[in-house]
Amino acid sequence: MAAAMGEIEDKLAELTQTFRSGITKSVAWRKNQLRALIELLQDNEDKIFKALHQDLGKHPVETYRDEIGLIKKSAKYALSCLDKWMAPKKRRLPLLFFPASGEVVSEPFGVVLICSAWNFPINLALEPLIGAIAAGNTVMLKPSELAVECASFLAETIPLYLDCKAIKVTNGGVDVCEQLLQQKWNKIFFTGNPRVGSIVMSAAAKHLTPVTLELGGKCPAILDTLSSPLDIKVTVKRIIGGKFASCNGQVCVGVDYILVEKKFAATLIESLKTTIKKFYGENPKDSKSISRIINEYHFERLRKLLEDPLVADAIVHGGLLDKENLFIEPTILLDPPLDAEIMTEEIFGPILPIITLNNIQESIEFINSRPKPLAIYAFTKDETFKKQIVSGTSSGSLIFNDTLVQQLCDVLPFGGVGQSGIGRYHGHYSFETFSHEKAIMQRSFFLELEPRYPPWNDFKMKFLRLAYDFDYFNLLLLLLGLKR
Ligand code: NAD
Repeated sequence: MAAAMGEIEDKLAELTQTFRSGITKSVAWRKNQLRALIELLQDNEDKIFKALHQDLGKHPVETYRDEIGLIKKSAKYALSCLDKWMAPKKRRLPLLFFPASGEVVSEPFGVVLICSAWNFPINLALEPLIGAIAAGNTVMLKPSELAVECASFLAETIPLYLDCKAIKVTNGGVDVCEQLLQQKWNKIFFTGNPRVGSIVMSAAAKHLTPVTLELGGKCPAILDTLSSPLDIKVTVKRIIGGKFASCNGQVCVGVDYILVEKKFAATLIESLKTTIKKFYGENPKDSKSISRIINEYHFERLRKLLEDPLVADAIVHGGLLDKENLFIEPTILLDPPLDAEIMTEEIFGPILPIITLNNIQESIEFINSRPKPLAIYAFTKDETFKKQIVSGTSSGSLIFNDTLVQQLCDVLPFGGVGQSGIGRYHGHYSFETFSHEKAIMQRSFFLELEPRYPPWNDFKMKFLRLAYDFDYFNLLLLLLGLKR
């Protein structure tokens, strides 16, 4: 353990030295690193497909959609916007400051720590890395130890492509993460569960280090539009796409449960069953298009959720568990008890509870009585209801009539609120997340305003009142002695 700590300290010292050299601040360095990252993804597609298959049984198409393709897209977007993001932003100053000019300059924080989760092991490591590089930081990356092959791939491959004096990977488990957290970083970016998020924040507080916490929680899907066959078909495909078709439900923004009116429940269940069969065949266990559970620990965690007798009674589809292959069949529950763990904890697996309501309007109260979700999905054409959801709920993001697409979108912020996280990233938001916005004001030696200095008197008080009220007309009269 002592050796590991020594290694971490040595790496941190080198990252600090590199940052102090100033090399990472140049636009050329940032662009070269982003280009190298794109090259890394292009050259190593097959290795990444293999690693994701070994870690999670992910199909290459899913890996391309959620990891390689998505990250390449983000890196290209950052490259195309970098000059604009880095440019100082001029600010027009109020007359009070005349003569002066102002601007906001984005500067890198310095040496940043990125800790990532296992469910999108390449994406969740590299997406924040793009932001950290674009903003000119040096980086220590700690991938999740649970996605073993992907963590090894990142540790072996990143030094071959990126500047190894400025970007380092440290692999290891909770003990290594704890050691990393003891160090003083200029910024910590953490993706994981809210319990660990709180540990990260406590550790950061010791050094007053700013944090971004990308956490999880239970993301509900409100289903209002189930009146026409076409609506049902599209809605159900998108729900399954946002659950089983994305890492088999092991997704932070995946649909955790559905809220629907009682009268639609039977139709919904039938349609979900039909679509599951269409996507994965009669026997999903044989399908190559569905991911496996990450490890035995999480398999057992999910098994326990289902073993609660009241929850087991609520199964209306699926429920097959195969420990040897770490496979859990897409499973649908109808109205499990609301105090069962399956409805109080984030599921993070292929189990989809349907909660029925008498009236879909009740969904707002249902969501508000629980921690703020990372995402809310609402399928509805009712504009009044949409407005009620926008103003009546709080969540990291709110998506109408689709699921998961927000994570592809570079121009919207991605992040949580309350228990689902602090801060946001993607696109320009990533650049901001890894930058300090420094205010710069330039004053001239000309025009000295004596009322700002003692000794104080009534005239100075009147002057300050008028100046702060921007009442320049009366201020002028005061200065000319035409006003008392
Ligand atoms: P996790 O919190 O267990 O692990 C994340 C990282 O923290 C890992 O690198 C791990 O080594 C480290 N860690 C774990 N326990 C620790 C401890 N006690 N002290 C110090 N470090 C520790 O999360 P996970 O299981 O990898 O991922 C699942 C969670 O992450 C879910 O809650 C999910 O919703 C969330 N998540 C969020 C996002 C997002 O973008 N908001 C994305 C993916 C996953």
